[in-house]
Order: sequence, then C-alpha cells, then structure tokens
Amino acid sequence: MAVPQNRVTRSRRGMRRSHDFLEGGNPNECPSCGELKRPHHVCPSCGNYNDREVIAKADEIDLDEDAA
Ligand SMILES: [Zn+2]
Repeated sequence: MAVPQNRVTRSRRGMRRSHDFLEGGNPNECPSCGELKRPHHVCPSCGNYNDREVIAKADEIDLDEDAA
C-alpha cells in the first residue's frame, strides 16, 4: 500500500483545497422576459438574445408532418 512520504501541513492542505469549492454562475436578468440567464448566452426561457428572438421555442413550432 502506498504511504505518503511527507506530512501535508495544514497550510499546504488549505492551499490545495482553495480551488475545490464551486462558484456561483453570475446570472443576469433577461431584458425581455426577466428570467435569470447566463451572461452572453441566449435566454433559455424565451430564446432571445440582444433584443431579438434567436431560437423559436418548441411550443411555438408547428410540427405538422404533411406540411409541404
Ligand atoms: Zn428571456
């Protein structure tokens, strides 16, 4: 079984763990629907980016199969 050669001090252990915790996502408010969204990303709830609709939402698309 592998055994640590040197004792890890409280200081070194703390330095290693300084990167371990998760940071928050820094959400912004969507200007068109007010929902929280990630900055520089299309709003997942209304599909808008830069005051225009980029992604049509799934419930607004007509999925009629025999439409020519
Ligand atoms: Zn939105």
